[in-house]
Amino acid sequence: MNTEYTALVQQQQHYFNTGATKRIEFRIEQLKKIKLVLKSNETALFTAIYNDFKKSEFETYTTELSVVYAEIDEAISKVKKWSSKKRVKTNLTNFPAISYIMPEPLGTTLVIGAWNYTYQLSLVPAIAAIAAGNTVIIKPSELTPQASQLLLELINKNFDAEFLTVVNGGVETTTALLQQKFDKIFFTGSIPVGKIVYQAAAAHLTPVTLELGGKSPAFITKNCTIDDSAKRLVWAKFLNAGQTCIAPDYVLVDSTVHDQFLTAVKAYIDKYNYAFENNNYVQIINDKNFVRLVNLIDTKKVYCGGNHRANERYIAPTVITNVTFNDKIMQEEIFGPLLPIISYTNLNDVIQQVKQLPKPLSCYVFTNDTTIKETILNQLSFGGGAINDAIMHFSNSALPFGGVGSSGIGSYHGEYGFKAFSHYKSILHKSFWFEPSFKYSPYSVFKLNLIKRIVG
Ligand code: NAD
Repeated sequence: MNTEYTALVQQQQHYFNTGATKRIEFRIEQLKKIKLVLKSNETALFTAIYNDFKKSEFETYTTELSVVYAEIDEAISKVKKWSSKKRVKTNLTNFPAISYIMPEPLGTTLVIGAWNYTYQLSLVPAIAAIAAGNTVIIKPSELTPQASQLLLELINKNFDAEFLTVVNGGVETTTALLQQKFDKIFFTGSIPVGKIVYQAAAAHLTPVTLELGGKSPAFITKNCTIDDSAKRLVWAKFLNAGQTCIAPDYVLVDSTVHDQFLTAVKAYIDKYNYAFENNNYVQIINDKNFVRLVNLIDTKKVYCGGNHRANERYIAPTVITNVTFNDKIMQEEIFGPLLPIISYTNLNDVIQQVKQLPKPLSCYVFTNDTTIKETILNQLSFGGGAINDAIMHFSNSALPFGGVGSSGIGSYHGEYGFKAFSHYKSILHKSFWFEPSFKYSPYSVFKLNLIKRIVG
């Protein structure tokens, strides 16, 4: 057991037990402070992430910081309401009494983040944890070293470690942290590491939220508006060079609109002119992922793109056609700028094939046909999704964000994040003015019949 982390967790447990983090004013103060720290250091935050994988200021603001700011603002304005007691009805058996549910923080929490949106995936769960009244240790990804180091400097300089702190490191560090007893672990990352985290948490019976990945399908049906569908899909797929957990992983296209759709997709890829110098494209995060992705490109099936440069970890937006469910590219989450297209003639058959795969994090349906929409929504299980769009459901904090089955456990954003870091304590408050005797012995047939009549 790593004694440094044991001491850190103990320090946070002690601080939590003082009750300081439970005060609503304290929570709001800390949330405001995080926003101020980020706002005052935006230029450095943009530079760090650009140095890690050439992500532009525009995209760091729109896909990272703006999400964090919106979560902070919502938590500040609603934390009082979220944390108040909620009266519920009392059953007849307990008359006279009142019943209520009282949210309480879980305690000392650990947030483990992924690299593809380093700031957001570390800070949004931490904001939820703080709003709910917990202490937090954040472990960002080691694959964006500059962004993670800056996060550490900004947080650790401005907050006491007994309340909120960042620990940086790779597998060894995370393994050592996971040996500690936390009251909640919130993990964002891959399915294999999710299983490691779940097992480590089980040793202490620690509850988890697991935000994992998978292969998210997009349906292009014969009744959709092809041009707008292609435009939105191209944006969603090649944002962050496809390194987005809810990026459309592959497209299922009705054969009657297949060619028209492909033409539109290529036109939008050309129009957007994805390039580092245009600030609309990023590098593949590391050499390992670069090699993995290049090996997924079946050059005989490339419709457009396919070119790559190892020295810059650049892979062009690549569309791959004539794909089948048996192709190599369909055996794993792509997590890169490769878009396989599978043509179908029978919607129900293709739905059955998708059902054979693990439940995805997202699903996108492009259609103007209500029956088609309902058929897909009712038959497929997935974390969340959109009709006639992709990715954007993520930006609505009224929608719980999370997976199902192998794409994750639990959800967050807005009040759902608060709930993920809270225990809802149930209270029955009885009065003394009336005490029926039928539950007490000596038991009798009369009492039993009375209970049967009340209970039904
Ligand atoms: P990852 O699982 O490799 O790493 C995530 C975190 O786990 C990192 O902080 C890393 O240091 C730690 N880690 C890695 N190996 C570990 C081990 N053996 N033991 C303990 N900790 C370990 O994932 P990644 O490459 O950072 O991110 C990509 C994956 O994350 C994709 O599958 C993607 O779909 C998923 N993801 C999901 C969401 C979501 O919200 N559901 C968001 C972003 C990414």
